[in-house]
Amino acid sequence: MKLLLENWRRYLTEFLEAPITKLRVFDFDDTLAHNVAKVKVVNAKTGEIRTLDSQEEFDAYEETEGEDLDYSEFKEVPEETKPIEEIIKIFRNMVEHPSKDRKVMIITARMAAAEAEIEDYLENLDIDISDVEVVGTAGESKSPYIKKELESFPSINSFIMFDDSEKNLADVREMMEEDFPNIKVELRQPKIEDGTVRVPIFRDQRDTSKSIADSINYLYKQPRRVK
Ligand SMILES: [Mg+2]
Repeated sequence: MKLLLENWRRYLTEFLEAPITKLRVFDFDDTLAHNVAKVKVVNAKTGEIRTLDSQEEFDAYEETEGEDLDYSEFKEVPEETKPIEEIIKIFRNMVEHPSKDRKVMIITARMAAAEAEIEDYLENLDIDISDVEVVGTAGESKSPYIKKELESFPSINSFIMFDDSEKNLADVREMMEEDFPNIKVELRQPKIEDGTVRVPIFRDQRDTSKSIADSINYLYKQPRRVK
């Protein structure tokens, strides 16, 4: 009898529940909300502290002996943190129109302690996040987390990620090309310029050099006129 029930349950899971075919991943800081927390660089000898004020500065920072990074400000999401309305709107639209074949996640480089803070913050914006998984990678790359997710839902055929960090997007793109070449990928890099938020498709250096190579090729392929 137990075996019968077990088989029946498996049947229900495999055939009746809609398989997940879409994964949507949002970053938190400077994607869903303006970040005010700063990473501090502490000189272990002198105790001198400086801050890394932007994502670019953080991405460019290289581990240095005698220096420790202090992420303590990233444990909390202060109430006055301002949402980035344009991205919140996209996020809200997804979670308020839940689709059984779509999974929505927030993957942040913050530590696990911040997960509940992020959930509270979004709930205070009146967003029902009961179906959203929030993951803190504690400074680790986001790629392995996304890879694990895609491996556990082999039916996923479409992946979209919103992240303001060029490094994160380039990383994830490389992983996707290598490990999931058949999944449709869309990477979006929110940018705030003069108070206006744009959400362009991510282009990294490689795209630029590729497009330069393409235009050179194009020029060479033009028929030459013989005088
Ligand atoms: Mg960010």
